[in-house]
Amino acid sequence: MNVFDRLDATLELPDHERMVVESVRTLARDEIAPRAEAIDRSGEFPWANVKAINALGLNGMFVPESHGGAGLSYGAYLACVREISKACASTGVIWATNFHAMKPLIDLGTDEQKHRLLPKVVAGALAALVITEPAAGSDATGMTTRFEPRGDEILVSGTKTFITNGAHADLMLVFGKWSEIADSKQSICALLVERGGAGLGVLREEDKMGLRGSSTATLAFDAYRVPRANLLGRPGDGLKILLASLNKSRPSVAAHALGIARAAFEDAVSYINDRRQSGRRILEFQGIQFMIADLATELAQCEAWLWHVARLVDGGGRDFGVEASMLKMRASDLAMRIATDAVQLHGGYGYCKDYRVERLMRDAKITQIWEGTNQIHRQYIGRSFLRR
Ligand SMILES: Cc1cc2nc3c(=O)[nH]c(=O)nc-3n(C[C@H](O)[C@H](O)[C@H](O)COP(=O)(O)OP(=O)(O)OC[C@H]3O[C@@H](n4cnc5c(N)ncnc54)[C@H](O)[C@@H]3O)c2cc1C
Repeated sequence: MNVFDRLDATLELPDHERMVVESVRTLARDEIAPRAEAIDRSGEFPWANVKAINALGLNGMFVPESHGGAGLSYGAYLACVREISKACASTGVIWATNFHAMKPLIDLGTDEQKHRLLPKVVAGALAALVITEPAAGSDATGMTTRFEPRGDEILVSGTKTFITNGAHADLMLVFGKWSEIADSKQSICALLVERGGAGLGVLREEDKMGLRGSSTATLAFDAYRVPRANLLGRPGDGLKILLASLNKSRPSVAAHALGIARAAFEDAVSYINDRRQSGRRILEFQGIQFMIADLATELAQCEAWLWHVARLVDGGGRDFGVEASMLKMRASDLAMRIATDAVQLHGGYGYCKDYRVERLMRDAKITQIWEGTNQIHRQYIGRSFLRR
């Protein structure tokens, strides 16, 4: 057992959850990882992986048993995100986005909404979390998508951009502004949107540096009709819902980043144990040992923080926004650093596509940008210490 195995063992999961994580690890190793390189090269959406994940019943793992799911813990969910992302970061974010989009429904939806929509998630529906707009990124409150009530319906109009799963999602949690409320922040609302019918189009899909198998789409809503019964909370509850949702999705994107970090660390260690220069294995050079020591120590500390946040959430904690931000910021900076150093440790080979570290470095970059850029997280964490 090495330090990381001992650390993982500190995440106390009941036997049935351990078995789920173990079966995800096997699926990731045997099916998802072997397809990752081809997915990266072709940029094709990994339907085979989505199917395999659904076959294991993973879409239902975070849905309560009362709505047909398995109701497993947040800790078990994060462990699965990390395993899948370690094998294929594109697939990891596709699956995790289902959680990001549907967790607010689970936490805040009415019984009727959950009864109607959650069985679709359990059955394998793909979901999307729809916040960003062309002119409203870091400051989401600048969004202009309009929700106009019309009797039993709401008409949705506006453009959303960079939406993960956007081209394929069956269900979306869309944020917009209630047309009858003038205040820019008070008017924000969250709406559960099912795909189908006229007035919703995919304008483009991005050609990205990394995560090339995941769909990142620009969506145009043109008076798209949604039943009023799909409004999450009341008109104007949206900002509260948005912040609460992000607090639970940020540890998940941290787990995604840590999956990339683990893969890069393991590849680097394996390579420098074999590669010889000047008659010695690369890892026998003291300068390289210092480098590995620093990376391993930071990775272990960050993973310990991941399980700390998981315990906070599973313990019913509500006030963990700063902890979630620290985790997202540190995990993503670390993923980028470890992936970059892993390329360095592979020398010229690391710059070539035959070695996985080249892809990991491209995949890692986005983790510093989405779910709040790391500049925004630094501001939020720093601001939390301002005396009021
Ligand atoms: C691959 C991918 C997938 C995504 N998936 C989704 C998704 O599923 N759903 C969704 O809604 N969005 C998604 N996004 C959007 C993502 O969350 C945004 O790109 C991110 O929030 C940044 O917004 P922006 O790109 O408009 O950058 P901007 O907000 O324009 O920022 C540009 C730069 O300015 C800095 N900056 C901005 N404001 C400040 C400030 N106040 N102080 C200091 N620096 C600042 C930023 O840190 C950044 O470096 C995705 C994006 C990508 C690329």
